[in-house]
Amino acid sequence: MRILTAGLLALFTATAHGQQTRTIAQVRGDLYKVQSGQGVAAVTVFLVTPEGIILADPLTPEFSAWLKGELATRFPGRPVRYVINSHYHYDHARGGGMFADTARFVAHANMPKNLALPIGRARPPGDTEDTNNDGRVTREEAQTGTRANFDRFDGDADGFVTQEEISADIRRPDITFAGDRQTVTLGGKRVDLIHAKNRHTDDLIDMYFPDERVLFTGDYVWTNRLCCNFQFDRRPMTAWINSIRALETLDFDIMVGSHFEQATKQDVVTFRQYLEDLMAAVSAGITQGKSLEELQKTIRLEKYSHFAGYKEAAPATATLPQVIQSAYLSLTRYQ
Ligand SMILES: [Zn+2]
Repeated sequence: MRILTAGLLALFTATAHGQQTRTIAQVRGDLYKVQSGQGVAAVTVFLVTPEGIILADPLTPEFSAWLKGELATRFPGRPVRYVINSHYHYDHARGGGMFADTARFVAHANMPKNLALPIGRARPPGDTEDTNNDGRVTREEAQTGTRANFDRFDGDADGFVTQEEISADIRRPDITFAGDRQTVTLGGKRVDLIHAKNRHTDDLIDMYFPDERVLFTGDYVWTNRLCCNFQFDRRPMTAWINSIRALETLDFDIMVGSHFEQATKQDVVTFRQYLEDLMAAVSAGITQGKSLEELQKTIRLEKYSHFAGYKEAAPATATLPQVIQSAYLSLTRYQ
């Protein structure tokens, strides 16, 4: 059943390919972020050490080719030694092969498993579904970014996109970990990889740079905006909230998100409070037997009226009625 509305679709429109706006900016110390595209962009980070560079998501082959040139110019003699995949989704994971001559590839142990699943079970980013469950998606089944990039992904031009095609440019990891945490060190610097567990995808890792006090988060942390598509996870909203609480225990000052967010720790706390307040309001209404329409008319969450999307639409935001609907559907299905 298709349950998303237009505004929520925008939340998960995978980054459009071919966007040429790419910027490199220092976050803190030797840690930099790179943004590809505008609006719902894709963001990655890299850490420069005396022995080379640790790079997070490679994003796309075109982006990686460009970045490789930029790094060679800016940091000569410091090749990329590690590429760390936040998760298997194609809007973050493609293009790593560009660094295969110098780098090793790190991911959670569930990433290879996800890449090997049929496309319907692997679930691409956005709300594409293999509705007839035949292991491939048509242009009609493809939604958001998968539809926008359909011809690019349909390598054999047969009118169907398979998981194999969609993952063709994704470098499989050489190093995986199955536990909660893994540390990667290079040149006296370090990044802690933290498995986000029940969040977004089961291979999602957040990357914590303790010396810089910076956290790079995956697709479930959005700040200062109305969001999210709570049903995508197919897990209770409480799992989402608990994941944010776990992040709050880390010592960080700056959060960089995998799409375009940069925020403070307080912003992350506020995001979690927003999720809690939204869930509480919608849960109370469900308990009282109110309809979705009644809840959409009465829940105001004015405390968050400064969030993007509350008064006017912005990239990656939904309207208040849409997030109420998403919470309602999540709470009635997955709680
Ligand atoms: Zn994702």
